[in-house]
Amino acid sequence: MSRPSNFPPPFSARDYLAEPTDPPDERIEVGVLVVGAGPAGLACAIRLGQLLEEHPEMAERLGEVPVAVLDKGKQPGSHLLSGAVVDPRALRRLFGSRFRMEDLPSYGPVTGESVYVLTRRAALPIPPPPPMRNHGNWIFSLSQLGRFLAERAEEGGAMILSETAAQKLLVSHGRVVGVRTGDKGRNREGGELGNFEAGSDLVAKVTVLAEGTQGHLTGVALDRFGLRGEDPQVWELAVKEVWKVAKPLDRVIHTMGWPLRTGKRYREFGGSFIYPMGKDMVTIGLVVGLDYRDASLSVHDLLQELKTHPKIRRILEGGERLQWGAKTIPSGGFHSLPQRLHAPGLLLCGDAVGMVNVPRLKGIHYAIESGRLAAEAAFRALQRGETPASALASYDDAVRESFIWQDLYEVRNMRQVFGRGFFVGGALASAMTVSKGRVELGKMRAEPDAEQPLVVTDRDASYPAPDGKLTFDKLSSVFASGNKTRDDQPNHIRIERRVPREVARLWEHMCPAQVYELGREEGDGTVLVELAPSNCIQCGAITAKGGRLTPPEGGSGPEYTVT
Ligand SMILES: Cc1cc2nc3c(=O)[nH]c(=O)nc-3n(C[C@H](O)[C@H](O)[C@H](O)COP(=O)(O)OP(=O)(O)OC[C@H]3O[C@@H](n4cnc5c(N)ncnc54)[C@H](O)[C@@H]3O)c2cc1C
Ligand code: SF4
Repeated sequence: MSRPSNFPPPFSARDYLAEPTDPPDERIEVGVLVVGAGPAGLACAIRLGQLLEEHPEMAERLGEVPVAVLDKGKQPGSHLLSGAVVDPRALRRLFGSRFRMEDLPSYGPVTGESVYVLTRRAALPIPPPPPMRNHGNWIFSLSQLGRFLAERAEEGGAMILSETAAQKLLVSHGRVVGVRTGDKGRNREGGELGNFEAGSDLVAKVTVLAEGTQGHLTGVALDRFGLRGEDPQVWELAVKEVWKVAKPLDRVIHTMGWPLRTGKRYREFGGSFIYPMGKDMVTIGLVVGLDYRDASLSVHDLLQELKTHPKIRRILEGGERLQWGAKTIPSGGFHSLPQRLHAPGLLLCGDAVGMVNVPRLKGIHYAIESGRLAAEAAFRALQRGETPASALASYDDAVRESFIWQDLYEVRNMRQVFGRGFFVGGALASAMTVSKGRVELGKMRAEPDAEQPLVVTDRDASYPAPDGKLTFDKLSSVFASGNKTRDDQPNHIRIERRVPREVARLWEHMCPAQVYELGREEGDGTVLVELAPSNCIQCGAITAKGGRLTPPEGGSGPEYTVT
């Protein structure tokens, strides 16, 4: 049985580490450089703005650009996609009396909730298990919240650089000194087009990586500074749609069971979420652990199938799909956190390091809290005029004392138990929840997603045919993500192109954006994988399943607005 990990991609982290190369007078110098305008990076920039407002002498000392935030998306929010039911704790701490929850661009607090176990035709309601209770939480579109946070960060003095991909980590004398941004305007072969713009060195006193799931430079940094955690990271793939609907939905819904199979042989773990967004929109998504084994599993098509369930079809009836997108979620939890969250000149936050509570499907409040704590640690170090590793260690201490650490510890084996099958895993997970993690199961090892041996079934034969109204094919979904990536850009996806048929099939089905196709047979049992990289919406699944996503030219990819 093939394992994707037996066919590693042509990728070396060393290629993404560099000394600054621009002449010193051409380098862009900033005080604190934040990579990623997600909730983690923007919370960091907002908190720095608050601290610099209280200490104008520090702002002066940090120079012309005290804080800069880079994002590869077209504008803030373009690459943000989530549920999103948000635990408001971290937003309240970040804004204090400056904003109330009512002042933020939300769809209001959760007003009710239901959980169902689905079979093909029926929906059995069950009492919401403790992790799925959402009383007191608020519903947002993360891409809308991202735009609001970016405006607040700019008001606080941060410079936001959209359409800018951080390609290389700049390290000098063992210390992170910033990033090199990617070139723009290259053709498929790497040649310069008429609008070519070379990337630049952005040098900073402190660099904060808040890249979210599958962070490219975060991975490079974890290897360079030997920070990887006890367990490898593992991921889920989530595909979601936003719908305009005829009838308002009055509660958040989670489902388990169908269309996923319960057999241990398939290792299918996951469920769906259906959240109201005001009176006339709902969001619906399916989350599936990437440790699944069946090469014909497609989360995109399973979501299409889910929508044909009578219970769900009724919610969407008379409605219209507005947007579509996909993203991975780190799910290794506590044991997969890095050993340290800092290195000389560097701090790491949010999903990039796996701060997600998988049973609760929540990471936004951890991202915001970690970004806030990173800002305070960076500020303390800069106030003392130093950024060696020990000065930034106070960030690790602060995270360990925060609710992030406590929550993730309580659910530390939660994801791993589902490797034992849906029913045994479910029972163990309930025992752990009720006991707040005190039920000791011993340490359960996570195996990398790409190491799962593959099976091939005919699961794909029963995916519903797209009708363009309720169910869609992958290419129309890519269109609904707003993706406008140039067709003639250099390929940013690294895979071994000659692989056994089942590995090629896995990638073909897994990719929600139809990037991979099976090409010619090579005569030795392998096939050549053909790629259409401009379809890629940067979900990150390929990195979990044996390849490597690198950031494409800044400004490419999806242009999410309500996800
Ligand atoms: C479908 C889905 C549903 C979810 N539901 C919920 C929910 O209901 N509640 C909840 O709390 N959490 C939920 N989560 C998890 C939550 O969305 C994440 O935990 C949260 O978004 C993490 O924030 P972040 O800032 O760390 O990363 P992100 O939100 O991923 O932001 C990272 C940003 O960095 C940018 N970036 C990355 N690399 C680079 C680079 N090299 N150069 C430049 N820019 C870069 C990206 O473009 C992106 O804008 C869900 C996640 C998914 C996918
Ligand atoms: S090619 Fe892009 S969209 Fe497809 S799985 Fe890989 S990262 Fe996701």
